[in-house]
Order: sequence, then C-alpha cells, then structure tokens
Amino acid sequence: MSDIIQLLPDHVANQIAAGEVVQRPASVVKELLENAIDAGATNIKLLLKDAGKTLIQVIDDGKGMSVTDARMCFERHATSKIKKAEDLFNLGTKGFRGEALASIAAIAHVELKTKEEHQELGTCIKIEGSKVISQDVINTAKGTSIAVKNLFYNIPARRNFLKSDTVETRHIVDEFLRVVLAHPNIAFLLHHNNNEVYHLKSTNLRKRIVAVFGTKMNEKLVPIDEQTDILNITGFVAKPEFSKRKRGEQFFFVNDRFIKSSYLNHAVVNAFDGLLEQGTHPSYFLYLKVPNHTIDINIHPTKTEIKFDNEKALYAMLRATVKHSLGQYSIAPVLDFER
Ligand code: ADP
Ligand code: MG
Repeated sequence: MSDIIQLLPDHVANQIAAGEVVQRPASVVKELLENAIDAGATNIKLLLKDAGKTLIQVIDDGKGMSVTDARMCFERHATSKIKKAEDLFNLGTKGFRGEALASIAAIAHVELKTKEEHQELGTCIKIEGSKVISQDVINTAKGTSIAVKNLFYNIPARRNFLKSDTVETRHIVDEFLRVVLAHPNIAFLLHHNNNEVYHLKSTNLRKRIVAVFGTKMNEKLVPIDEQTDILNITGFVAKPEFSKRKRGEQFFFVNDRFIKSSYLNHAVVNAFDGLLEQGTHPSYFLYLKVPNHTIDINIHPTKTEIKFDNEKALYAMLRATVKHSLGQYSIAPVLDFER
C-alpha cells in the first residue's frame, strides 16, 4: 500500500475555514468591525455596495499595521491578540482566532491600506483567492482600510445561495447595530450605495440607543445598575407597557461582546413576571461584565454563544436586578437623561 494522506495547500485550507467564518456579507462586516475596535479606533466607517455583495469596506483610525504585519495578517492562525493557550481564558479583545482575514482573502478580492501613526508612508496590499497580487508603498491616513469586493467570487454555489439585497442588508444592519450598541463611545458611519444610513457620534449609552431607535425610546428606558463580586449589570430595559409582539430589540452584551442566550433571556422575561401582556416580549439592552476567566468564548467560530462558569448564579442575579429596577420605576419614574 502506498501513502495517500497529504496536507492541504494553504489556499484550500483557508477556503474550508472560510466556510465556517463567512456565511454571508454580514459575517465579513462583523469581523472587520471587530478588528477596527481591537485596533483602538475612535471613528469607524462602513461602506457597502449592493448589500455587501459588490463591496464591503471598513475604514478605521486605529493603530494600523507595520509593513510586515500587513502581509502577515492574511496568514491563517496569524494573530497579534493571543500568544499562548492560557490567553484564551483571559481575552481582552474581540478577535483571537487569527482566521478572519485569511478566510475572507480566500473567497474575495481584498484591498488593504494601512499606516501606523509614526510611519511616513503606508502599505497597500491586494490579494485575491489567497494570492497576493500587489504590494505598494502608498500615501494614506493613519489607520486601516479593508475593502472586500465580490465576496464568494470563486465559490458560485455560495454566491448563488445569498439572499435578496433586502435580506442581506438586514443581516448587515443587525451586526452593525450590535457593534454600535456595544461601543457608544466610538463614532460610526454606515453608507449603502452612497446613501448615508447611520451617522452616530461618540456619546453615552442612553443617547446611542436613542440615536439608533428614535427619540421615542428615551421615555421607555428604565436604567439598570447593579455591581456584585462576580457580576456587574448595567444598561436599560424598556418599560413593560412598551413590550412588543415581535422580538428584536433584545440585546445582551458580555464584556462588550454581543451574545445570544435564551437562558439569560428567560431570566429577564421572568423578571417581568405578570407585567407583560400575553404574547409580547420586553425590549432590553443589558451589559454584563464578568471576570474574563469565568467565561469561554471559544465554543463557536462566530463567538455569539459563550459558556459561563456560574450560569445559575448569573441567572438569579440578572432576574433579581431587573425585577428590582422595574419595581423602583413603578414607584417613582426615573428621569435620568444623562446616563
Ligand atoms: P484576529 O482578529 O483573530 O487576530 P484577524 O484575521 O481578524 O484575526 O486579523 C489578524 C490580525 O491582523 C490581527 O490580530 C491584527 O493584528 C491585524 N489587524 C486586522 N485588522 C486590523 C485593523 N483594522 N487594524 C489593525 N490591525 C488589524
Ligand atoms: Mg479579527
């Protein structure tokens, strides 16, 4: 018998990984926005053409990359964010897998422009299907711009599988809103086909929520604020009378990361016990801070599900906190516009 096992070439491995990380244009948006935040950006622009099918571009004013890093960032498992396995249990960044850019570059036409603050000139790299097409020295602003064109150009099955522009745009806006609500202090701009969709200034959480969901939201919000040894909870729930038939305005952030959790959702709904009209769902924007070592984020490539060490205690505390805040508001409405 002859030996038949081979290691896959990098570009094939990247394309396989891309299948996990990049489901649709919105996945690219999420990864690029998170990279901009990890780079310390204070101003982030997202430009789209045709629901991201033709162009997704993120421009940030973060720390930029050196010439070597600009090349390295497209390698698989290449990351500046962790160095050793233990770091996985003390993550201070959104990224850590070092897979996003390698995956995206395997299935799109990518143009990276980047410059560090102290550099005179920046770097421009063009890459297609994991192959570097060109690398130039350019004049560019401090920070990073990544343009992702023609997503899935080399995987027709995936490209054809994309939904209508309306649906794909909806997915993108959902990701965008999760990010802008996690970071009210960062300014964001969203343009689609040269139209301005969102223009969000750096502000506090209440004003960011109002800027996104409209001025009527202001009177609906009940502030939540509870600090304990194992958990901080801040944010807002909407007053019970504003609960909705459709789910939607329900946001959990754990250590500044949007997560989905039907378990924690249950805790909140439970706290509204008896206050909700049948068949309606409360809106909430809840920010949980827990010690990094008590959560595991590395259970899913998109990182929207995480594992808590002490889920039961969190449930109880969340429920009690929301219940308490709702009780207080019903005695004396809280008029706290500055938060
Ligand atoms: P990860 O975010 O998991 O590290 P990525 O593939 O998303 O992996 O990015 C690889 C590396 O490229 C990052 O670790 C970071 O060093 C660099 N990088 C990516 N995007 C940016 C950006 N907008 N600004 C500065 N550096 C970036
Ligand atoms: Mg990343």
